[in-house]
Amino acid sequence: MLLSLIIPCYNEEQALPLFYEETSRVLAEMDCECEMLFVNDGSRDGTLGVIKALAERDERVRYLSFSRNFGKEAAMFAGFCNAHGEVVTVMDADLQDPPSLLPEMLALLESGEYDSVATRRVSRAGEPPIRSWFARRFYKLINRISDADVVDGARDFRMMKREMVDAILAMNESNRFSKGIFGWVGFRTYWLPYENVERVAGETKWSFWKLFKYALDGIVNFSQMPLSISSWFGMGMTAVSFLMLLFIILRKLIFGDPVAGWASTACIIIFVGGIQLFCLGIMGQYVAKIYMESKHRPHYIVAETNLPDARKIK
Ligand code: UDP
Ligand code: MG
Repeated sequence: MLLSLIIPCYNEEQALPLFYEETSRVLAEMDCECEMLFVNDGSRDGTLGVIKALAERDERVRYLSFSRNFGKEAAMFAGFCNAHGEVVTVMDADLQDPPSLLPEMLALLESGEYDSVATRRVSRAGEPPIRSWFARRFYKLINRISDADVVDGARDFRMMKREMVDAILAMNESNRFSKGIFGWVGFRTYWLPYENVERVAGETKWSFWKLFKYALDGIVNFSQMPLSISSWFGMGMTAVSFLMLLFIILRKLIFGDPVAGWASTACIIIFVGGIQLFCLGIMGQYVAKIYMESKHRPHYIVAETNLPDARKIK
């Protein structure tokens, strides 16, 4: 049986040697064949050089190197497209996804009871509290409003059988949100909890805003709820305006017609205008997604690889 490890790397020259060291040590204790498929996501440092040096030494090391930075989602997709294994795993290059869990994950898969073994962090030690707070709100929200079942603390670190990889490849959307995609395709998944580990070297590529935007994208990609919210707003406002009309007619009949109320009118106009723009904005988010999907641009472009049968553009 062949095990494929997919490792997306963006500016990881410091972490990679440590990753390789640790992973090789764990793999040596497991008795299965393995390929390490490094996906260099347009790094600006010496990452590609480090990978090539590893590939010289070790024939299990394969790599795809993108023509520019396409993002982790694209790197994972390229990995799935080009992995040969019957069992495939995605791992970060910074050892935040502990290789020491691999034997246990493989054993769980081989027991035949599960199609996929996913991991989740049970602690968020070492993370800014505000980030953890937003993350928790995000998981609550997306589970409530979409049918992609996303577990709190879920990592992309996951081992899965070929059937599941093929299902993921069949989801050809260009706006990819893997946590949602993994949940959406289903299959029997075992959740393996572990304590958060901090990255060994280098630094995170996710600023707070990048993560925030990623979360919003995840919601738009997997839920139509925001669109419904805007129509509920519309209906609510209409109902309120009817009540106000009634109130004004009654007041006129009872008290006559004092010329007043321009301030409240102005407030109402601004308020309604705001709500309209907000709803238009939500609509715009979806239209933008449709626009990008309809272009059918490739997910990634490979400039260099040592795989003879690589899918260079997909
Ligand atoms: N990564 C990538 N492309 C990017 C950003 C990140 O391939 O544009 C990779 C990165 O090299 C690492 C993984 O995705 O292997 C997770 O990134 P990071 O550790 O920075 O994220 P964090 O663990 O802080 O959420
Ligand atoms: Mg990390």
